[in-house]
Amino acid sequence: MRTEHYDVVVIGAGVSGLYALHHFRELGMSVRAYDDAPTVGGTWWHNRYPGARVDGPSAPLYGYTFSRELIEEWDWPETQAAQSDVLAYVQHVADRFDLHRDIQLETWIQAARYDESTQRWTVETDGGTRISAQFLICAVGALSTPNEPDIPGIDTFAGACLHTGSWPEEPVSFAGKRVGVIGTGSSGVQSIPEIAKEAEHVTVFQRTPQYTIPARNRPLEPEELEAVRTNWDKLLEGMKRPPPPDRPLAIQPGIGHSAYDDTPEERRAVYEKLWEIGTLGFVANNYPELLVNEEINLEVSAFIQGKIREIVEDPETADKLMPDHFYGTKRPILDDGYYETYNRDNVTLVDLRQDPIEEVTATGVRTASGEHPIDILVLATGFDAITGSMLRLDPKGRGGVSLKDKWSSRFHNYLGLMVSEFPNLFMIHGPGTPGVLYLMPLGAELETQWIADCVTRMREQGMGAVEPTHDAELAWDREVNAIAEKTLFPRTDSWYTGANIPGKPRHFSVHLGGPTYFHRIAAVADEGYEGFMFEGERSTGAASD
Ligand SMILES: Cc1cc2nc3c(=O)[nH]c(=O)nc-3n(C[C@H](O)[C@H](O)[C@H](O)COP(=O)(O)OP(=O)(O)OC[C@H]3O[C@@H](n4cnc5c(N)ncnc54)[C@H](O)[C@@H]3O)c2cc1C
Repeated sequence: MRTEHYDVVVIGAGVSGLYALHHFRELGMSVRAYDDAPTVGGTWWHNRYPGARVDGPSAPLYGYTFSRELIEEWDWPETQAAQSDVLAYVQHVADRFDLHRDIQLETWIQAARYDESTQRWTVETDGGTRISAQFLICAVGALSTPNEPDIPGIDTFAGACLHTGSWPEEPVSFAGKRVGVIGTGSSGVQSIPEIAKEAEHVTVFQRTPQYTIPARNRPLEPEELEAVRTNWDKLLEGMKRPPPPDRPLAIQPGIGHSAYDDTPEERRAVYEKLWEIGTLGFVANNYPELLVNEEINLEVSAFIQGKIREIVEDPETADKLMPDHFYGTKRPILDDGYYETYNRDNVTLVDLRQDPIEEVTATGVRTASGEHPIDILVLATGFDAITGSMLRLDPKGRGGVSLKDKWSSRFHNYLGLMVSEFPNLFMIHGPGTPGVLYLMPLGAELETQWIADCVTRMREQGMGAVEPTHDAELAWDREVNAIAEKTLFPRTDSWYTGANIPGKPRHFSVHLGGPTYFHRIAAVADEGYEGFMFEGERSTGAASD
């Protein structure tokens, strides 16, 4: 088998992998990136379901920050860009920075193994090529391994069965079809209103009712884009600024004063105003107590529940849609007419808590109460989030140790970037990083820059390998958890805690500090990489096949 040699191999050509490729290449290293998709874009290729779009504002919060020219030349069309626009943006970046020549698409990396004698990784493609690199960057995506539900009979379904996270390339027509949608997380909430506009009938199978806030998406005015460009330096500084010490959580909202400074009537007026404005501002501009104080959270949750009752005409359907978790402790969802969709004659809601699915048949879905005839089945069941793609890769570290074994009960890592016994393997948006609760393009840039600084230092000092100590991992685990424990997050079953995947270890694995996290990892580097072990260079390893 032929072996190719590089300094760095990047797995994934989404937003993170592309930046890693660009950055390492700028440092003069040989880099090759691999992705299974037929185009760059990762998430934005795989999630082509109707209604898919970002939920943070496109400009300036979604997008790369490393190139001022990019900020100047790219016009986002809407406040919350649609999947096709984000994909076009990512493809533009790949063209603009001539990244394609170092990317191999439609290539699955099926194995990755560390060789202690050469201090290098060997990865193997599904096409049978071997690639050796000193450094392995896993930009495999925190939301890229679809959660395929294990429902009896699902393989016997005769119609099309589509997963929102791996949507088919050819257009899907729902016209005249009876569509079943299983799942009401972000992808379900975004797609159900769109599918209902076209389909003959939609049956929604709901396990967990959701809170969702109006997205209020609209075209971005030229003046707004101009303002982003004029104020770019200040905006970027704001995105990187750690919260003040009395607000340790990046995601802890800040209206500027405590909820207890206002009367209940004044608070209600605040919630009404935030609801009218919509967007993730409902969280970001809420009271600082929202995600840490049960009483205030329940008040906000009750406010949204009241909105559901106002919007949904049939009281029984409204009852089924009533969420019962702390608002904001699952991924906050934005919608465009989600609750209103249940007022349509062609939409039926099945509450799986009272009427569970027994099996999928060739022609429909059978729940305890009877059969629902279905022509197209949409699985909006989300992802094996944060750790799923690393576990699918299942790299083998020192002595052949497998990541699956290492992570069988807890996702041990240090700084969210490395795992002990897996030298020279770096993760982007891994467990223990702010990942999905920060601005992911900016987070990818900052993590990559940290990794590249570490690699540069190793090369300058003749080091061949780096890995964290297990003690550092244990301390990091405690640190990430200590932050989470100050909030209501760990008290809710969610994909943040792994609760959506049967058998997955229950582990809240998101660092809630946002910019604080990036200051923390910078301090570790500045103070001599405490918690890491460096090994002198043994061999270039690149010589033999
Ligand atoms: C509908 C939706 C809306 C979102 N909205 C926002 C938002 O508003 N703001 C925000 O910050 N984030 C948002 N996200 C999160 C989004 O995932 C990130 O913003 C970002 O796109 C992640 O990029 P990535 O490169 O890290 O991972 P991905 O885009 O997931 O790319 C990883 C790539 O690696 C490939 N891969 C994995 N394993 C292998 C392997 N073994 N071999 C070959 N290829 C492999 C995957 O197939 C994928 O193509 C959203 C996600 C979704 C699904």
